[in-house]
Amino acid sequence: MSERTLEEIKHAIQQYQTIIIHRHKSPDPDALGSQGGLAELLRQSYPEKKIYQVGEAVGGLDFLITMDEIPDEAYQGALVIVTDTANTARISDSRYTLGDKLIKIDHHPNDEPYGDIAYVNTKASSCSEIIADLWQFFEDEWTLSEEGARLLYAGIVGDTGRFLFSNTSAHTFKIAADLRQFDFDATYLNRQLQEMPLKVARLSGIVYEQLEVDKNGAGKVILTQELLAELGINDLETSQIVSLPGVVDELVAWAIFVQQPNGHFRVRMRSKGPVINTIAKKYRGGGHPLASGANAKDMVEVEAIYQEIQEVCKNFVK
Ligand code: AMP
Repeated sequence: MSERTLEEIKHAIQQYQTIIIHRHKSPDPDALGSQGGLAELLRQSYPEKKIYQVGEAVGGLDFLITMDEIPDEAYQGALVIVTDTANTARISDSRYTLGDKLIKIDHHPNDEPYGDIAYVNTKASSCSEIIADLWQFFEDEWTLSEEGARLLYAGIVGDTGRFLFSNTSAHTFKIAADLRQFDFDATYLNRQLQEMPLKVARLSGIVYEQLEVDKNGAGKVILTQELLAELGINDLETSQIVSLPGVVDELVAWAIFVQQPNGHFRVRMRSKGPVINTIAKKYRGGGHPLASGANAKDMVEVEAIYQEIQEVCKNFVK
């Protein structure tokens, strides 16, 4: 984390009158928390500037934030900041190219460096943690609102699986504690993040029932369009069940294959030890070493990906 890059980011923010903040498609709490947290931080610190948050609809996470609708002209002479997004193909709202200057702020491996300034810290639990770092670095000049603190806290809770995953560091707890000093209802927020509609709870039962596990702890679940239609569940809503198999002690790494309307499968992979983003990268994806995503064109690729997961589980020494 270079202090010079932080200064460059602040300088760019000071220079521009309009700042438009993007994040990734199919947003999770960290995408929205980092996007909205940064927007709040800048609104509070520079009330005279126009600050927008844009992207596709946020689905069931609208208790966090909603998006601004802006015309293309708003991008003229604007600064665009993208949070929590490793590669340009995943940026929600393709108009991110229309601005005058582009900044990337992220915590995923920097496989596709993009933008005029890139600030990437893969040690951070979440992009929200990085935005909180940014706030604390310029604390003498910048002010965070309660709403900003709520959003950043939500992002950290989301990406650490409530402080359970290995990305949770002592620094993460320190930042979380600082955010909890703000006057927002963290208990209510945690409940909102945890709750799921009945149809998704029913899907959880199906996930456990259908989970296939080999002798080395490689797991797979296939969710077909037929099943999703029967339950009335869309792709975004399946995000809530991805980590569930983790409680099964026989499991080492697993993939959930979610069939899309075009027949392709969105692949969501998780691991308790073996690195799996190398597999994701081979199949049009990427992500973190232990939490990644990819795409499979058909059942042949689904099987090929599962075989690769089986291989890394077999070779994994605890
Ligand atoms: P998900 O399973 O969608 O929660 O994604 C887990 C992680 O993998 C996230 O950090 C994503 O940013 C990353 N990821 C998911 N899908 C892709 C993709 N198609 N390309 C690159 N990274 C991805």
